[in-house]
Amino acid sequence: MGAVLYPGSFDPITNGHLDIVRRARGIFDKVIIGVANNSEKQPLFTTDERLALLKEVCKGMDNVTVERFDGLLVDAMGKFGTTGVIRGLRAVSDFEYEFQMALMNRELNPKYETLFLMPSPEYSFVSSRMIKEIARCGGNISPFVPPIVNQAIERKLGRATA
Ligand code: ADP
Repeated sequence: MGAVLYPGSFDPITNGHLDIVRRARGIFDKVIIGVANNSEKQPLFTTDERLALLKEVCKGMDNVTVERFDGLLVDAMGKFGTTGVIRGLRAVSDFEYEFQMALMNRELNPKYETLFLMPSPEYSFVSSRMIKEIARCGGNISPFVPPIVNQAIERKLGRATA
């Protein structure tokens, strides 16, 4: 099925994102994870840190690459040579934003399509935003993120792990 782009902030990558990557790489020949530069005003991790974490977590997934992109998604798709993007749908609450974005992107370039994948129910309540909130309040995030992401958050919050 060619190549597909999976764009997002990934601040940071969670097990929910990974579930989507695994599903996508089973369908497409190649999955390009696109890390949006400056997509969030105050990210916890810099773009380079988010890229490094993703690369580490996806090491060994032979048909997955990790790239950064600036600006419009439709321009990134042109640059990476894909005509489709993958987005994850967790719940109805994601729908409105995703629907609007998919249609706007299609308006900007009618060639491009957005494809939605649903994660396992166990990840449907996991979001990067909530992971950061739980970690800041001292909660245990280890069930929701890869171990190296857990360690990176601890370091970022000044709670260095042994
Ligand atoms: P963005 O800022 O572009 O929404 P995110 O990194 O938050 O970037 O999310 C990227 C994509 O991954 C979005 O389509 C989002 O809905 C999806 N996603 C995020 N968390 C999950 C999850 N737990 N399960 C499935 N999809 C998810």
